[in-house]
Amino acid sequence: MTTVLLLAGTSEATRLADALVREHDVDVLSSLAGVTTNPVRRLGRLRTGGFGGTDGLIAHLRQDRPDVIVDATHPFAAVMPHHVADASAATGIPSCRLLRPAWEPVVNDRWISVGDLPAAAAALEVLGSRRPLLTVGRQSTWAFTGSHAHVAIRAIDAPDEMPDDHHLILDRGPFGFDDELALLRDLRIDAVVTKNSGGNATEAKLTAARQLGLPVVMVERPAQPAVTVVSDVDHAVAWVAERSYQRGV
Ligand code: NAP
Repeated sequence: MTTVLLLAGTSEATRLADALVREHDVDVLSSLAGVTTNPVRRLGRLRTGGFGGTDGLIAHLRQDRPDVIVDATHPFAAVMPHHVADASAATGIPSCRLLRPAWEPVVNDRWISVGDLPAAAAALEVLGSRRPLLTVGRQSTWAFTGSHAHVAIRAIDAPDEMPDDHHLILDRGPFGFDDELALLRDLRIDAVVTKNSGGNATEAKLTAARQLGLPVVMVERPAQPAVTVVSDVDHAVAWVAERSYQRGV
């Protein structure tokens, strides 16, 4: 039986674990950082918490000896993909990165692309936004605590750091176009801030912003290590199957 260490934290990771266990009889150990209080259920085994840096991950791999590693962490996970790449090289255990394609602007989009969160906060100031919507995740609201605007924040769990004048919406995608349009209208949002996470589950806010002519402050992705990349769950399943075949598992 093929064994996989699956670095999780995305909807793709959940679907990949389910597909590998249910349809391909693979032994999957999903690993979560432990930042979400109520993670989505998935098939296979589950562990939670950091490994203790690259050395800790290498030690885990040498003890657990998975056949392959799939890094399905979020496109904005800036550290773990580098640890996986280094640990894979150190142990010789093949790894791939499951990374959904980034969103691309289309006609009538009013995107302001920025390199990081402080630049996004600065862009809101330049825009003179009074009622922005933040959809950057609970760990990334720290950059906006100095805002004097009325800030709507949508996140799965409540962030620790928020601006004084905020409106918190606790919700988990996927989100549909009609609901996103209603949200932007009802809250009288004048700008949307998002990370360029890509994928369908949270894309409707971009379509709704386009419809309303709203600016979108788009935080672009951190640098990725130079590794094998697959763009969706099906390709990740195929990559695991191919490695299993090569190893004669
Ligand atoms: P990160 O900066 O790449 O990782 C920070 C540390 O968290 C890592 O050094 C590692 O600790 C631990 N870690 C991260 N992912 C892990 C995993 N799957 N299993 C075990 N430990 C993990 O990542 P992050 O931005 O803090 O995100 C943490 C988790 O939330 C990730 O799994 C990511 O997929 C998910 N997530 C992140 C975002 C985002 O915008 N950043 C959005 C949605 C979901 P050690 O060094 O101790 O091993």
